[in-house]
Amino acid sequence: MDWLDFTADEPVARPLDVRWIHGSPSAKHNTDPDIQVYRYDPHTVILRQNMAIDYEGPFMFLLFGNTHALLVDTGATESAEYFPLRRVVDELIEQWLAEHPRDRYSLLVVHTHPHGDHIAGDAQFAGRPDTRVVGIERDEVRAFFGLGDDLGKAGLVDLGGRVLDCLASPGHHEAAVTLYDPSTGILLTGDTVYPGRLYVEDWPAFRDTIDRLIGFAATRPVTHVLGCHIEMTAEPGVDYPIRYTYQPDEPPLELTVGDLLAISLAIDEIGDRPGRHAYPNFVICRVDG
Ligand SMILES: [Zn+2]
Ligand SMILES: [Zn+2]
Repeated sequence: MDWLDFTADEPVARPLDVRWIHGSPSAKHNTDPDIQVYRYDPHTVILRQNMAIDYEGPFMFLLFGNTHALLVDTGATESAEYFPLRRVVDELIEQWLAEHPRDRYSLLVVHTHPHGDHIAGDAQFAGRPDTRVVGIERDEVRAFFGLGDDLGKAGLVDLGGRVLDCLASPGHHEAAVTLYDPSTGILLTGDTVYPGRLYVEDWPAFRDTIDRLIGFAATRPVTHVLGCHIEMTAEPGVDYPIRYTYQPDEPPLELTVGDLLAISLAIDEIGDRPGRHAYPNFVICRVDG
């Protein structure tokens, strides 16, 4: 078997040369695929769910290592008929294995956090051979990644020569994690950081998480910060109303470490004030207390 060396080169920031499916004026007449497949590189796939199926239009990620593929999140819809995630993932794995044959190859399914729009497709993977769907409870998630009580210490998941770091990221959700892939330099931030409404359930935990991500990013090359939704418009500080299913003027999905710093500054500025606070690339919504 050709053992791929995922550590050979420093990660480079490839442009995301993609126009995401972004809904349509009439959901009934939507002609987009149920799931958009974008190959970021030969071993990294970004998926987006069609907004006509669920307005959340979440992103999911499929990463290939030498022994395991990792699916990060399973979307907002349970039905394999409306949302054929299992079929799409099976096809992608089959295609990858055709290029990189292996006798055995496993699939790991993990979640950025257990909100319904990130776990709904889990059941589609039940009974799939050589597959583990990691549970969604906070302690189960942290145990899987080897995260202890000291949240400053990263955990990991090894896909066979492609070892991702994992950081506990409470704030949006207590079980949230952020994954860092050294081979692409991509930071997968779930709903903790994305170009949209950052709903904060636990303000002190969120502040600590953003600081932790900034500290981590200072020690590693981060090429893109990729969350799981786009809710902003192309106009700075203006988001699409919730439940909209047509977003023709979306900004790119990818954010930068500079946006992490901007969130940190915004947190200081917002202080004790609850509610909604718009910034050019994101809106912070304090829903705690
Ligand atoms: Zn969420
Ligand atoms: Zn979400």
